[in-house]
Amino acid sequence: MQNQEIIYDIAIIGAGAAGQMGVLRSVLNNKNTIAFTGDAQTKRKSRATWVHKVVNMPMAADLNRPISSATKDTFEWIKAESGFADKFTDMQETVISLEKDKVTGHFNLKTNLDKEFKAKYVLLATGIMDIQPEIDGSIKPVLPYANQGHVDYCVRCDGHKSKQKITATIGHTAAAAWVAIMLYERYQPPAMKIFTNGQTPEFPPETLPLLEAYKIKVVREPIIGIKGDPKEKMEAFILKDCDNLAEDCNKTKEEPVELAFAMLGQIAYNDLAKQVRADINSRGNIICNPKGESSVTGLYVAGDLRDTGKYQIYTAWDQAVDSVDDMDAKLRLEYREEFLKKSKLVKDEIQEEVNVGNESELELDKKTGEFDPHCNEQSDVAIHS
Ligand SMILES: Cc1cc2nc3c(=O)[nH]c(=O)nc-3n(C[C@H](O)[C@H](O)[C@H](O)COP(=O)(O)OP(=O)(O)OC[C@H]3O[C@@H](n4cnc5c(N)ncnc54)[C@H](O)[C@@H]3O)c2cc1C
Repeated sequence: MQNQEIIYDIAIIGAGAAGQMGVLRSVLNNKNTIAFTGDAQTKRKSRATWVHKVVNMPMAADLNRPISSATKDTFEWIKAESGFADKFTDMQETVISLEKDKVTGHFNLKTNLDKEFKAKYVLLATGIMDIQPEIDGSIKPVLPYANQGHVDYCVRCDGHKSKQKITATIGHTAAAAWVAIMLYERYQPPAMKIFTNGQTPEFPPETLPLLEAYKIKVVREPIIGIKGDPKEKMEAFILKDCDNLAEDCNKTKEEPVELAFAMLGQIAYNDLAKQVRADINSRGNIICNPKGESSVTGLYVAGDLRDTGKYQIYTAWDQAVDSVDDMDAKLRLEYREEFLKKSKLVKDEIQEEVNVGNESELELDKKTGEFDPHCNEQSDVAIHS
């Protein structure tokens, strides 16, 4: 176990879109910053790892000299910035415990490698993960298609791709129905479907007339395979072909689909927020004020884990900057008050010395007429004697 005595100004947990922007802003605000980037497991489970192609960044493509690579590696860039590198500590570890000291108000953080750190403020940017559809109890058959963008999770990022494709949502609750309706209204794909993957639909009654009017087909059979070549095209979901969905049914059928959106909910990485008892909504996101501060003073949240926002890279960036700037303002206020208090003390001391000096001069005149370097300390005695 390692106990660091340093109290960092800001600790940032997570190194996706929000975490990296938080680090950048914090270091450039000249705050002593420690960042926890997670380990192989948290990275594999984070959305950041699966964004291979960002399509909704205006200016990234439209210029004569487009922004193709802003910085190759944010952290390496900061470390190379002389004057700021010493403000940045980079821990490639996962924070496993977070607590708030009731006396100091500081946060104690512990990592998977049993190291402990302290910070005045924390930015939690651990994100969320979309729940994957399962085929025969496993997500593995879906992954090659997800990696190539045939199965998607982010409607705002990829919904437009449905324009010329047979499109589906996967899910059996309100989200699957409403997203199917929205995609139809926006893009009128050649066909729009909902795969409930063996589950009984729980669509809100108000969606039913729309599903019917837009001829959105609800497919209830369990998906048992995917037809296509992930590198080229997804062609169809292979389904159990049984009227009564009997378990022992061996017949299969194909239902064409080229693009599918998984609408099965999310896993919110909110364990650390739970440890300090931050308020959390029904989806698992942390409830925050507009600057991103949670119900726990000093604990901020940015990115997909915050209860507001668009689950996008640009909102994660914006939220991280707002949060870090708010912490910076509070830290500067603390510094300012301390500075003024100290400078008042110094002023008072100088004034006292001046007063004592004046009195010493009196002493000088009154007594020997010679300067006594210790007379300040004896002045009271001298004056009143
Ligand atoms: C397939 C796909 C495509 C997308 N396409 C786009 C797009 O084109 N445009 C767009 O704007 N958005 C897109 N998004 C959404 C975007 O990826 C997210 O909005 C964004 O990544 C959220 O950032 P975040 O920082 O909140 O979380 P993430 O980026 O998920 O980062 C979370 C970080 O936290 C770390 N972590 C987790 N737990 C711990 C811990 N305990 N200790 C330390 N570290 C920890 C992880 O290692 C990771 O670094 C897409 C998402 C997916 C899945």
